[in-house]
Amino acid sequence: MKDTNCKPVRGTGNSRPLSLDTVLARGADFFEPQTGAVSTPIYQSATFRHPGLGETTGFDYSRCINPTRQELEKTLALAEHGKYCLAFATGMGAISAAIKLYKPGDHLIVSEDLYGGTYRLFNDYYGRYGFSFSWVDTSDFKKVEEALRPETKAIFIETPSNPMMKVTDIAACAELMHRRGGHLLVDNTFLSPWLQNPLDCGADLVIHSGTKYLGGHNDTLSGFIVHSRDDLEEELRNAQKSEGATLSPFDSWLVLRGMKTLPLRMEKHEKNAKILAHWLRGHEKVERVFYTGFEDHPQYKLSQKQSRGFGGMISFYLKDIADVPSLLKNVSLILFAESLGGVESLITYPLVQTHGAIPEAMRLQAGVNDRLMRLSVGIEDPDDLVADLTEAFKKGIKK
Ligand SMILES: *Cc1c(COP(=O)(O)O)cnc(C)c1O
Repeated sequence: MKDTNCKPVRGTGNSRPLSLDTVLARGADFFEPQTGAVSTPIYQSATFRHPGLGETTGFDYSRCINPTRQELEKTLALAEHGKYCLAFATGMGAISAAIKLYKPGDHLIVSEDLYGGTYRLFNDYYGRYGFSFSWVDTSDFKKVEEALRPETKAIFIETPSNPMMKVTDIAACAELMHRRGGHLLVDNTFLSPWLQNPLDCGADLVIHSGTKYLGGHNDTLSGFIVHSRDDLEEELRNAQKSEGATLSPFDSWLVLRGMKTLPLRMEKHEKNAKILAHWLRGHEKVERVFYTGFEDHPQYKLSQKQSRGFGGMISFYLKDIADVPSLLKNVSLILFAESLGGVESLITYPLVQTHGAIPEAMRLQAGVNDRLMRLSVGIEDPDDLVADLTEAFKKGIKK
């Protein structure tokens, strides 16, 4: 496995730390000690009996702690090179809990093109409670510095960003925040721990929508915070159990099972995305393709420095807006649906789906126009995907 420039901080204790693919395939515990079960049991119990007063099995009530969820949290903590992991019912639940670290009056610098649901949560809800946000093209570090205020407590980024595939310098943002006692939060959903470990580059909190690559099969929702900050763990854990958006035992098991094959899936997603990105770039109906794996991508070198790959996400502008509805209607193998990161290829229209909550002027400034399509490339045969797009584009030509 290729190492990035960022220093790996692997699990402690073992003389020889396990590789990431081993950790993902086998989980933190390898097997369940009581029965020897190889697959982590689904502890479908809301509550746990105490042996006596002042005695505990380590488990009390499943909103706070559950053995299946705990195995998942331990496994993802190892995979992201973190000390702690907290599992939530959704990615939004995780982001909302992370933002609870701050208080009214605090200011956060946020990537200008990020998941629309995160925009809505910050702007429509936390904005109302006295938090302020600056929406910045964080791939331009000067703009990040310019947005700093005395009350800036954190930077929140997605890198690569959603959907414009801009790459932000994790180490530079972390250093900027650490100089003033602030935090860097990185939503690592797009690359997954297989391709990028932001904690190694200095990030304080890593966030995941496990609904995407971690789960990987479009069958469950989940969200995570991973970190190594002893000083933040208690507060985050309190937010998790107080708000109650914790991940259920069954969903925890689905994500654990999904994560076993994360490396295999990511490699295939990436291989397919590369083929499709180059093919789309040569297509007469496509104006421009956004893909971090292009050598002429403005942050190609930075990607190579802080990531181990380019992932499976592509977005592109069509030349003609008339092709938008026909493409969405005529794809058949590729499904017109929101979400990403599953084995099935999905095509999304960010304007009305993932980014519908963002005001027009801001959306356009970020590059999300009415001809932008986003493709989450699955693990099917790439020739079948190309054939599907070819057919769909052809059907659009009515003469
Ligand atoms: C989907 C997504 C989220 C939200 O996650 P949910 O599991 O849908 O709540 C957050 N960030 C990114 C980058 C996403 O793609």
